[in-house]
Amino acid sequence: MAKDYYDILGVAKNASDDDIKRAFRKLAHQYHPDKTGGNDTKFKEINQAYQTLSDAEKRKKYDQFGAGYEQMGGGGFGSGGFGAGFDPNSWAGAGMGDLGEMFGDMFGGGARRREPQRGRHIEMDVHVTFVEAAFGVEKDLRVYKTMTCEECGGTGAEKGSKRIECSQCAGSGQVRKVQQTILGNFQTVGACPRCDGKGSAPEKECHACHGNGITKGERELRVQIPAGIADGETLRMYGEGEAAPHGGRSGDLYLNVRVKRDARFERNGSDVHSEAEITVATAALGGEIAVDTIDGAVDLKIPAGTQPGTAFRLRGKGIPHLRRSGRGDHIVQIIVRIPKKLSKEQRKMLEGWEDF
Ligand SMILES: [Zn+2]
Ligand SMILES: [Zn+2]
Repeated sequence: MAKDYYDILGVAKNASDDDIKRAFRKLAHQYHPDKTGGNDTKFKEINQAYQTLSDAEKRKKYDQFGAGYEQMGGGGFGSGGFGAGFDPNSWAGAGMGDLGEMFGDMFGGGARRREPQRGRHIEMDVHVTFVEAAFGVEKDLRVYKTMTCEECGGTGAEKGSKRIECSQCAGSGQVRKVQQTILGNFQTVGACPRCDGKGSAPEKECHACHGNGITKGERELRVQIPAGIADGETLRMYGEGEAAPHGGRSGDLYLNVRVKRDARFERNGSDVHSEAEITVATAALGGEIAVDTIDGAVDLKIPAGTQPGTAFRLRGKGIPHLRRSGRGDHIVQIIVRIPKKLSKEQRKMLEGWEDF
């Protein structure tokens, strides 16, 4: 579970805006990474909590839905969302303010170069059948996303164009600006938006991507779904998310595996459960029946005198273990079909059974 924003700031749920501001100031000073006893992780946490709780609209949503709603909104996802436990710091554009840079100046840390922007993560569902999930399957997916521009290979430069000093930052890669914050006015240093901190830019921008190094399009992706995967499990495909502008690191692709129901089978861990109907005669006299398993039909011997509800175990006919060898079992529960209509003759025969 993600930590509660109120707990992080150490304020009550009904804390006033002033209380929140005060708590944030105190903690931000205490944990700033450039100070002795500072803590980068903690500082980010505090910043993140403050970003949400200091904004009336965001706070209201947080109170209602909890953390994670930010990712689900405008993040370019379909349904779902990653929910609690997802690391928001790895999220491009997750609302981390530039407080780090601001404090960098304040505490003498100097200007720090911002990491190049990272591409967004993508989340999508992939549907497989019960049997495909059991044995694994290769799926071809179509992903509509931001990709590295093929024309320029992500450099943003028109073919044959050389790189020249960026005109906006005069080659420094940085721009200064004055920022008004709750702690007063600060001069902050940020990466130059024109060259993304590189200091140089192509003389002539690529016509296909207008110098960003990225284009939107559809990509086909072949994915290996591992044997033994269960409904609701997520596969992470490193670097298969959206490409980042100016050659930054791509995001990841998260695949939520959705296993379709199979009327014949029920899964319990690595075991498969099913039911098989037999006649009264087979139950009493014994016999052989065909049982559907994920391997196909398998013969099963029914011993004479089998009782309704008896379960037989077919060893090794269950689901292959995920990421290790071996398989679970298939368990068949026997249902004895009691006839509803009887001929005169059959009735007579059964009446002879009364004493059994
Ligand atoms: Zn291009
Ligand atoms: Zn620049």
